[in-house]
Amino acid sequence: MNAIRTTPPRPLDVAAVFPQLAPLARTATRLHPRPGAPSLHDSSIGGPLLWPADEPWPHCDAPHQGGGYSLIEVRAERRARARRAMYPDGAPDVPHYTPEEEAALAEIDWDAELPDGPVPMLPLAQFYVRDIPLLRPPGQADLLQVLWCPFDHEPMNMPRTALFWRSAAAVTDVLTSPPEWPVVEFEEYVPVPCVLAPEQVTEYPNSLELSEELREQLKDWSRWQAADAGVDSSYAPYPESYYHSHLSVAPGWKVGGWPQWGYTDPVPRLCPACDTEMDALLTIATFEWDGGNRSWIPEEDRAAASSRDDRYRDLCQPTAVQIASGHKQQLYICPAAPEHPHMELMQ
Ligand SMILES: [Zn+2]
Ligand SMILES: [Zn+2]
Repeated sequence: MNAIRTTPPRPLDVAAVFPQLAPLARTATRLHPRPGAPSLHDSSIGGPLLWPADEPWPHCDAPHQGGGYSLIEVRAERRARARRAMYPDGAPDVPHYTPEEEAALAEIDWDAELPDGPVPMLPLAQFYVRDIPLLRPPGQADLLQVLWCPFDHEPMNMPRTALFWRSAAAVTDVLTSPPEWPVVEFEEYVPVPCVLAPEQVTEYPNSLELSEELREQLKDWSRWQAADAGVDSSYAPYPESYYHSHLSVAPGWKVGGWPQWGYTDPVPRLCPACDTEMDALLTIATFEWDGGNRSWIPEEDRAAASSRDDRYRDLCQPTAVQIASGHKQQLYICPAAPEHPHMELMQ
């Protein structure tokens, strides 16, 4: 962890205005990914995994339709773009790619048939419990590793994910060069290596998960006024949207907390193995914030987020991951047995 990110205090204590919300408070860990060079021993998104050399690398054996982008090209383009962004006033007269990148790109055989067989998965994230104490690992495990297959899969048309819990101390020989598939379906399925700055925040449920009575209260502008909470009167016709944008569910990549809904209504999340109600584990987000929820922008990023400087163009999409047209991929896990199959939803 080499950075701190601080979510500004919520504009008002919503549980004081609507006491029925108080027992529904839930802690989430915002991950605050930022491009960097994470090591094997860091919690990361898109970074190297502490993977044992003697354990098979996970592969996806579902059907795949060809490919879209060369992994080598995606990474070279990312690096070129990062170099360019360092010169907001115009890049000096240097080639787009380095000689090494040119050489690697020249090696690509664009007409080659893709190899047959299962697709090696890509590292998506790893989380050490010391950084994210919210995680509830099984047994002695203290590390969660998430991989995904960078192709759309049925039924939701998202990358398919796989979860692995392990004890970091048990990994002595590390796999240094995991197998890779030469192509990915979309460049947005190749995460930019990011370091994390985990931060715990308090969330309340999306209004679609609240009782009818509580939803009616949130729509009642007079209650907001009576609380003298200083909510902008432009919200008077739809005060519940103020709750939605600023007081309920945090945007961006996070562990735990309340799920966001809206793409669909809430659906039951029951463990396929034991029928237990599943917990929200990880939200894989396209955006860290958008125009409607800027109150969640960390203090440390607020100046940059308001800047037109090109260097900060990707600030709200640091991982470059995009789910569909800007959605989220949610992973749910069985609290009774983390090794039971997990569940994925798009929101
Ligand atoms: Zn696959
Ligand atoms: Zn279960």
